[in-house]
Amino acid sequence: MAKKEFVVFGLGRFGTSVARTLAESGCEVLVVDDNEDKIHEIADYVTHAVCANVTDVDSLESLGISNFDGAIVAIGQNLEASVMVTILAKEAGIPYVLAKAQNDLHAKVLKKVGADMVVFPEKETGIRIANNILMGNFFDAVELSSTFSMMELDALQEWAGHSLRELNLRAKNKINVIGIKRGGKLNINPDADMPLEKDDILIVIGKNEILNKLKNQ
Ligand code: ATP
Repeated sequence: MAKKEFVVFGLGRFGTSVARTLAESGCEVLVVDDNEDKIHEIADYVTHAVCANVTDVDSLESLGISNFDGAIVAIGQNLEASVMVTILAKEAGIPYVLAKAQNDLHAKVLKKVGADMVVFPEKETGIRIANNILMGNFFDAVELSSTFSMMELDALQEWAGHSLRELNLRAKNKINVIGIKRGGKLNINPDADMPLEKDDILIVIGKNEILNKLKNQ
């Protein structure tokens, strides 16, 4: 299978991290930045590193980016450059353009000019870290999206002696129980009529705020 090709515009902390991770994962990665030092620093880690101003249509066209699988616009502070390169990347026919926004207005503009996905890396990382802290354990929760997670939840005291059918957690607590750990053994097909025991650990999927509340009860 052909390697995926990505172009990353802007080598701030976000762009550098995305570019290096994609390259380490075996993708072809072209990076573009107008800061020569940054281009030198990353050159050994990516496929091509080009020093150019992304608002210069001619130099961008000369890069031949139209066949790339995706573009990452990682320029936060220079609004004009961020918007312009998003337009140029979409016009070049790149199917997936992900752009970093500084604020809501910036995000709106990026979406209007065709960005397929707009991200706020600092804000999103902050939310994820806070959720991990609230859940108390980095290893017993798997984030499925920014809103939903799957995690281990100690059965609440009042649940002991009642079956999943009686408790009706899906309707009452808005969580889905997909497994039960009892005595170190995982049952991924729990019987709806089996009464829960005091030390049961439930594997549940639900909204982060609901899981956090239950975890901290
Ligand atoms: P971080 O990810 O570190 O938070 P940031 O979002 O603050 O970065 P900027 O510092 O604005 O982003 O820019 C990121 C990179 O984009 C810088 O390395 C800068 O040199 C580059 N850059 C800014 N404008 C242009 C441009 N017109 N052409 C090419 N590169 C540019």
